[in-house]
Amino acid sequence: MNVKEIFETMEYGPAPEAAAPGLAWIQERTPFNLFINNQWVKPASGQYIDSINPATGKRLAQVAAATSADVDAAVAAARAAFETWGKAPGHVRARYIYAIARHIQKHARLLAVLESLDNGKPIRETRDIDIPLVARHFYYHAGWAQLMESELPGYQSVGVVGQIIPWNFPLLMLAWKIAPALAMGNTVVLKPARYTSLTALKFAEIVQEIGLPPGVVNILTGEASQVGEALVQHPGINKIAFTGSTDVGRSIRRATAGSGKKLSLELGGKSPFIVFDDADLDSVVEGVVDAIWFNQGQVCCAGSRLLVQENIADRLIEKLRERMEHLRIGDPLDKAVDIGAIVSPGQLKEIQRLVNTGVEEGAVMWQPSWACPTEGYFFPPTLFTNVSPATTIAQVEIFGPVLVSMTFRTPAEAVELANNTRYGLAASVWSENINLALDVAPKLKAGTVWINCTNLFDATSGFGGYRESGFGREGGKEGLYEYVRPKWETLEAPAKEFHIAGESASTNGSKPAVSADEDREFEGGEQLLDGYTPMLPAIDRTPKMFIGGKQTRPDSGYSRDVYDPQGQVIGQVGEGNRKDIRNAVEAAHAAGGWAAGTTHNRAQILYYIAENLSVREDEFARRIVQQTGRSYADAAAEVQAAISRLFSYAAWADKYEGAVHRPPLRGVALAMPEAIGVIGMACPEEYPLLGFVSLVAPAIAMGNTIVVIPSQVAPLSATDCYQVLETSDLPAGVVNIVTGDRDLLSQVLAEHDDVDAMWYFGPAEGCKRVELASAGNMKRTWVSYGHPRDWMDTVQGEGEEFLREATQVKNVWVPYGE
Ligand code: NDP
Repeated sequence: MNVKEIFETMEYGPAPEAAAPGLAWIQERTPFNLFINNQWVKPASGQYIDSINPATGKRLAQVAAATSADVDAAVAAARAAFETWGKAPGHVRARYIYAIARHIQKHARLLAVLESLDNGKPIRETRDIDIPLVARHFYYHAGWAQLMESELPGYQSVGVVGQIIPWNFPLLMLAWKIAPALAMGNTVVLKPARYTSLTALKFAEIVQEIGLPPGVVNILTGEASQVGEALVQHPGINKIAFTGSTDVGRSIRRATAGSGKKLSLELGGKSPFIVFDDADLDSVVEGVVDAIWFNQGQVCCAGSRLLVQENIADRLIEKLRERMEHLRIGDPLDKAVDIGAIVSPGQLKEIQRLVNTGVEEGAVMWQPSWACPTEGYFFPPTLFTNVSPATTIAQVEIFGPVLVSMTFRTPAEAVELANNTRYGLAASVWSENINLALDVAPKLKAGTVWINCTNLFDATSGFGGYRESGFGREGGKEGLYEYVRPKWETLEAPAKEFHIAGESASTNGSKPAVSADEDREFEGGEQLLDGYTPMLPAIDRTPKMFIGGKQTRPDSGYSRDVYDPQGQVIGQVGEGNRKDIRNAVEAAHAAGGWAAGTTHNRAQILYYIAENLSVREDEFARRIVQQTGRSYADAAAEVQAAISRLFSYAAWADKYEGAVHRPPLRGVALAMPEAIGVIGMACPEEYPLLGFVSLVAPAIAMGNTIVVIPSQVAPLSATDCYQVLETSDLPAGVVNIVTGDRDLLSQVLAEHDDVDAMWYFGPAEGCKRVELASAGNMKRTWVSYGHPRDWMDTVQGEGEEFLREATQVKNVWVPYGE
C-alpha cells in the first residue's frame, strides 16, 4: 500500500509486536512447575495441563496440575511464613511491595506480550492498561503497608489467604488480590485461572528476584476441581478472596459458611450504559466501544446494556453501526487491533449460544459486514435492538462482545430499567447535564458509576458490587479491611458463645434451665441487687410486633413466655413467624426514603431516641435486672452505655463521609458510603438493651431500614423501646421488630431475597446457617462466629467497624475539562 492509497482509505496497516521474547521465555521454562516456598516444585500428581494461545488454538505451554497434596504444602508454607511476615514492620513490607512494583515495570513489555499470547487480549490493552495498572496497584499498596500501623491501629492481619482469580485480567486480578493482602501482613496461596497462568508464573519469578521471604506468595496452577475447591475448604486458610462467576461465588459462600473464614466475592454483572438525549453522541460511541468491546466484552463490569433515551435512539444506533464497521479484529499482538480472541472454545460456544437465544427470543441482531479470522477463537462485535427487558440476553451476563440496547423516555424510567437486574457492579451515565448525571448516580444500584466515561480503574478507588455482583471492595482504603480483622479478635477457632440463662430454652414455653454460672450469679438473691427490690410492672403489658410503625399482633396468634434467671415467668412476647418477617421486610422497603433524607435529620432523630430513653432510664434498668438478674448498678450502666451509643451514632450520622479520590486523570472519583438497603439483624443474647441499640443505631444512622430480632431470652428491653421509637419522630418502617425464635426468624431473613444484608450475633452453628441461607441472593452477612464481644467496651461495641458494615461504598467517577 502506498502513501496515496493510505491517505485515501485511511486504513491501518499491520503493526505487529514481536512474539519472540515471550515465546522464548515460555520455551525455556515449559513445563512449568508449582511455586511453593519460593521454589519450583513438581506437582504431586505428576500431571501437567496445556495452556493454549486463543488466537491460534495452538499449545503455548504446559503448566502443572496441582492437587490437594500441593495445596497442603502451599498452605503449610504460607502458614510458616505468616509467623514472620505478619509481624514484620509495615516499612519492611512496604519495601518489598515497592520492589515488586519496580520489577513489574522492568518486565512490563514481556508481561504484556505474555498476557496477550495467553489470554488473547490486544497488546494495546495489556501494554497500556493491564500492566500499568498492575504496577500502580503495588505502588499504592506499598504505601498502605507503610501506613498500616498509624492508619489502622486497631487492626491485625487475617493470616493465610486463599485467592482464586479468573482469566479475563489474569495479572491485574492477581495484583488486586496480592497487593492488599501483603500490605496488610498476610501470606497468600493464589490459584490463577486454568486458561491463563503464564503471567502469574512470571510474577513468581519476580517474587524470587526481589527476595520476598519464602512462603509469603505461593502460586498453584491447575483445575478448579482440584485446586480451587481444596483451597476453599482448607482449614489452614483464614480468608478466601474470589473473582469469577456468580454461580461459583455462590458455591464458595456455601462451602465456607460457618468456617469463620473471611470472604470477599467479586462476581458477574450486567451493567447499564445510560445515554440521555443531551449527551455528546460521538463521545458516547467511543464510550460504547470501551464499554463492551474492551477485552472482547469479557469484563465483569462491561457496559453490556445500552439504555438510550428514545428520541435519539435511531441516531445513536446508526452511528454505532458505522463505528462497528470500522472496528478491527484479529491478531492480539497487532497494535492496531481493537478486538482480540475469546479466551477458549467453551467461552466462544457459550457466547454463540446466548446470541442464538437472543435471536430466537425475537431481538434483532446486527453484526458488521467483515468476517472474523478463521484460525483461533474470534467472535464479531454484535448489537441487539428490539430487546425486551425480561429476555435472556437482557438479563444474563454474556461475557462476550455482545451489546443489547433498549430505550427509555424519562430519567425515572432509565433508573428503573438500569436497576432491573440481579447484579450491581457498575454503570455509566452519559449526559452533558451534570446535575442530571449526579442526580441519577446515587439512584443506581452499582458499586461504581462512571459519568461520561467508562471502564476506568485505579488503585485509589475501591471496586466491587452490590447485590449478586458480590461483596467486599478491592482497592482504596475500604479494600484494606478485607485483609484485616480487629485486634481484639483472636485467630483461634471460634470460641464458646457467651450464654445467659434461658439460651437453651426450648421455644414452646417450657421452663429454661439455669446454667451453673447463672446460679452462682444469683446466689444471695436480693443482696446482689444493691438493695433494690425488683417490682413487676403494675399493669401487664403485652408487647406485640413492631412493624411499619405500628404494634401488630403476631400472625401465629401465639405468645412465648419470658423468664427471669430463676425461671419465673416475667412476661410474654409475640411468637413471630415467616409472615411477620415478610410484613416487616415489606414495611422496611416501604420506608426506603429514609436513606434519601438528610444526615442531619437522621442525627436529630437518634438524639431524640436517646433523650426519650434517658427519661425512662430507671424503668429500663429495672427491666434489665428483672430479665438478667444482674445488679441494678450494672443494669443502669448498660442503659447509660446505650444512651451514649445513641449519641455516638447521632454524631457519626453526619460525619461518616466518603472521600474524594484523585485517580491519575483530569477528574475525581467520589467515594460515597451508601446505605445497604434493608438489613436483617439478630441481636446478641447478652446485654438485652445495649446489644439491641448497638446494632440498630449504626444501621439507621447510615440510612438503612431494618428488621430486628431482639435477644430471644431477654426481649423485653427491645419491646419496651416501641414507645421510645414511636415518640421520637422515627418514620414508620425504619425499625421493625419481630420477637420469637432467633434462629428460625434469622433463617427466614437470611433466605429473603428482598433483604440486602444480614447480621447475626449468636452461636457458631447459627452463624453457619445464616451464611448458608444468604447464598440465595448473595446478601452480605456479618456474623460473630460465636466469638463473644464485650458490648460495654467502646472499642468492641461501637465505631467504624459497625459503620462499615452498615454501608457500601459507591465510587462515582467524574472527569472534567473541556
Ligand atoms: P469461574 O467462575 O468458573 O472461574 C473463575 C475462577 O474460579 C477460576 O480460577 C476457576 O478455576 C475457579 N473456580 C471455578 N470453580 C471453582 C470452585 N468450585 N471452587 C473454587 N474455584 C473455582 O469462571 P469461568 O472461567 O468458568 O467463566 C464462566 C463465566 O463466569 C463467564 O462466562 C462469565 O460470565 C463469568 N466470569 C466472570 C468474571 C468476573 O470477572 N466477574 C471472570 C470470569 C468469568 P479454573 O479456571 O481452573 O476453572
